[in-house]
Order: sequence, then structure tokens, then C-alpha cells
Amino acid sequence: MKIKVSELFYSIQGEGRYMGVPSVFLRTFGCNFTCGGFGMSRGEDSDERNKVAEKIELYKTYKDLPLVSTGCDSYASWDHRFKHLSPYYQVEDLAQSIQNILPHKEWRDEHLVITGGEPLLGWQRAFPSLLDQPGMERLREITFETNGTQKLHKAFKDYLILWTNSYGRRGWGDITFSVSAKLPGSGEEWKSAIKPKTVCEYQDVGYVYLKFVLATDQDLEDALRATDEYRQACFKGPVYLMPVGGVESVYSLNNRRVAEYAMTYGLRYSDRLQVPLFKNEWGT
Ligand code: SF4
Repeated sequence: MKIKVSELFYSIQGEGRYMGVPSVFLRTFGCNFTCGGFGMSRGEDSDERNKVAEKIELYKTYKDLPLVSTGCDSYASWDHRFKHLSPYYQVEDLAQSIQNILPHKEWRDEHLVITGGEPLLGWQRAFPSLLDQPGMERLREITFETNGTQKLHKAFKDYLILWTNSYGRRGWGDITFSVSAKLPGSGEEWKSAIKPKTVCEYQDVGYVYLKFVLATDQDLEDALRATDEYRQACFKGPVYLMPVGGVESVYSLNNRRVAEYAMTYGLRYSDRLQVPLFKNEWGT
């Protein structure tokens, strides 16, 4: 079984529940959205990634790719013009590569982040096989970073429930769904992006939180409206507000204001530690 991998790296988790925890990041290829609206006026779509694609021959690896200040900051993990930069791995080789980048070549207190793109698209079928590879049994905690639009397949859901209860894991809470639901400021439509029933179902197998990316007062209003919709559909986890900003100049304009929003509304603030720590370079 194979998985198309955009990035595999070891870093500090910069956002949400596991902020500060050393983590292996597995970024799968493919997404159902394009999120061209980040950092743009409402209704406008970022053209930055198209400009990068025009000079595609200059970029041989992810690390060569320029960062963008508008639109999705992980554009190369779903835009098909960059797909040649994301090789397929057999799950056996991928499990070995994951463990090889751990400093002790085995799991200690690190956690695995499966991100994208949108990792819950087709890869749900391959993850059990990856997690069952030798050495992976010592892994205790996983976060799926998702946009919250993909239902869990029954077989995958059953597998995750078994996973949390095996090898002396603690049970509920070892699997986390970090749901970065896309508000209209992302450029995506409400009815395609806000799927409360889908997210509520994640609660059957793990700890779930919402994380909204904010730039404007309108984004805040949208986040509060979306929170109401999720709550009405039985969502019971915490809600984080996070400043927009894949580059430091944008992030530092927003972070304090978003922290103040969080305090005002009794919600949680999520930083993006990868921006001040590592300038959000690819591989961080
Ligand atoms: S859902 Fe995430 S990965 Fe997909 S386009 Fe939007 S920001 Fe990018």
C-alpha cells in the first residue's frame, strides 16, 4: 500500500493542543479545497501560487519553493502542477523513514501529526497499514489536521477505536482531530466548508477541537456563527482562534488582536510558533 507524501519532517508543533511538542509531520498530497482567499479582500483569489508554477523548472524540492503571503501556504501539497515533488512511499518504507527522523530512532514522548492538504481524503484506507508497521506500536499520540469536511470510513473509525485501546495507550484523547474549518475569508463556500455533523462524528473516536484562522472582524463574526452551528450539532470540544499569517510580517500584524478576541469571547488562542521560531519555512 502506498501514500503520496508531500513532506516528512521533525519539528515543534506550533499550533493548537500540542503547541510546543516535538512532532513528526507527515504531509499527504491532495486537498478538496484551494483556499485562495487568505490575505485577500473578500471575493478575490490569490495569484501567488500561479506565479510560482510559471517558473516550476526552478524548483527541484519543497525547500526551494517560495513562501506565499496570500492563499493557502501549503499550496504545493495539493496543486497538481507541483505533484512531481511528492513521491509515493510504500507504507513499510514510510514507517521506517518516520522513525529514522526521530532523534533516538524510536518513539519517546514525540507525537505524530498527519496533515495535508487534506489527509482524510483517500488516505484513510492506507493509514491503518502504516500505523501497524514494526516500531509504530510505541507511538502514543496522533493528530489529524483536517479541514473537517471528510467523513470517517467505517473501517478506519473501527481501526482508530482499536488503536486507542491497544498497547497500553490511555484511551480517548490519544487521537486528536485538529479541525481547521474554513470560513468564507479562505475563499471557500460556507455550505461546502462548515460540516458540523461530520465533525461531531470525529468525537466518537478522539479528542476534537476547532481552529479558526482570523484576519478581520468579519472573520471573527463568521467564527462565532460557525461555532454556534457546531455547538448546535453537538460539538463539545474547545475552539481556538489563530491569527492568519504564513509570513512573520502578516502574522505579527494580527496575533495580539486575535489573542484579545479570544479573551473577550472566552475562546482559546492558538499561536503559530513555526512563524517566529522558524519563519514558516518548508520543513518546519
Ligand atoms: S484546506 Fe488547508 S491545505 Fe487545503 S487548500 Fe485550504 S488551507 Fe490549503
